[in-house]
Amino acid sequence: MPEFRLYNTLTRTVEPFLPSHGKTVRMYTCGPTVYNPAHVGNFRTFLFEDLLRRVLALRGFDVMQVMNLTDVDDKIIKRASEKGVTIGEVTAPVIEQFHADRKYLRIEDAEIYPRATEHIPEMITLVERLVSRKLAYQAEDKSVYFAIDKFNGYGKLSRLDTREIKSGARVIQDDYSKENAQDFALWKAAKPEDEASGAAWDSPWGRGRPGWHLECSAMAMKYLGETLDIHCGGIDLVFPHHEDEIAQSEGASGKPFARLWCHGEFLLTDGSKMAKRVGNVSTVADLKEQGLSAAAFRHFVFSTHYRKQLNLSGEALEAAQEGSRRIGEFAERLSGARGGTADLSKIAEEAETQGIGELSDDLNAPAALGVFHTFIRRANAELDKNGSDKAALRRARETFERLNGVFDLIPEKEVPDAELALLVGSRLADRRAARSAGDFARADAIRAELLGMGVAIEDGPSGTRWKKVD
Ligand code: AMP
Ligand code: ZN
Repeated sequence: MPEFRLYNTLTRTVEPFLPSHGKTVRMYTCGPTVYNPAHVGNFRTFLFEDLLRRVLALRGFDVMQVMNLTDVDDKIIKRASEKGVTIGEVTAPVIEQFHADRKYLRIEDAEIYPRATEHIPEMITLVERLVSRKLAYQAEDKSVYFAIDKFNGYGKLSRLDTREIKSGARVIQDDYSKENAQDFALWKAAKPEDEASGAAWDSPWGRGRPGWHLECSAMAMKYLGETLDIHCGGIDLVFPHHEDEIAQSEGASGKPFARLWCHGEFLLTDGSKMAKRVGNVSTVADLKEQGLSAAAFRHFVFSTHYRKQLNLSGEALEAAQEGSRRIGEFAERLSGARGGTADLSKIAEEAETQGIGELSDDLNAPAALGVFHTFIRRANAELDKNGSDKAALRRARETFERLNGVFDLIPEKEVPDAELALLVGSRLADRRAARSAGDFARADAIRAELLGMGVAIEDGPSGTRWKKVD
């Protein structure tokens, strides 16, 4: 097998990669801020991390992946205050939705999903280490800040000119309590709305809550040690989030925080970044409503290299839907075939070598996907010959499993919910008509028919409700 290579944002080069300890890759992936359902832009990043995870597994590594859930932050507190509830009440349903959407998109489970609110003691300890090393100070406003000019390597990841950072060109200098306008908060003194929404904890510096950057440093080091193998996230996290994670973690431990930094590019809509702020977001619910399968969305995402921007367009989604349909058809043909030809075996072997080669070269998924489709086209032509070589057929199945094991592109058989809803709606209208005409036998027959499709109905005061059952 060719060596596995990955682009490292820290060195700006593609580097050979091996974990530092044996076979296990210790990988930290910044997770969602859980105040709104994640949008498909967020999921582009989580899909690139899923791809990385699966390629590492294909290469024979064990993966130890941690993805945090940011369940305390300004936006969550604001939402809780508006509704008069606690932050936990805001985040619980969003976390549930996140996992449901993630599973729908076939994003494999990380090993651990730590929540910020459950790691406050670890964060406080980290701040104490930084204070004792004189890298952090408590300001007049009672918050604790990281002193960026006390840390030598500040700016090494983003390569922003530190003079520029310090001049405050990128941030409004409205906070005079800090020693330097660019110092960032490690621990934020509690405000009344923090207390009211359950977002304040005791600390040596008084009541308060952690800063966002601190959460990731504390949780990453707790579960993965002081030097991780790979740290991932979307490209917008390079500065300030990851720069600040490096400052805090290396400032406390004196060791390199992550050996390799890996960032995925944006998903765009009409040329601008998909973002909640901009309001141009689509969610997994929207994909389902459009009848777009999870396989099609994966195909769409993997058709572009993770370090290139990707535009969400109807045309590209349609092409992806068609691509995944062909893959699904081929999977069925392959499982029903009786035998192959000697050439089928050769074609399979070539495709596997090439496909793994592309995936090992900085996750070149679009090229590997091209290899996969070429394999399918050529294998289809071989299967047309009705050969009887069982070993060749087995070889083709193996190749298909290995490549599809990374992409996971067979469309689901189930009718998507949007289609099902339409169908159920029309049957329920028929049933209403039958009932008002006094034809109860027909109404019962429709109920039975729906149950046969896996849909149970229940009549209630506000009409008939339905749900899926096994
Ligand atoms: P957030 O929930 O905002 O903390 O973001 C979760 C992840 O999604 C981070 O890794 C972000 O970098 C990433 N992200 C946010 N917007 C986009 C986008 N439009 N395209 C790709 N990734 C994004
Ligand atoms: Zn993070």
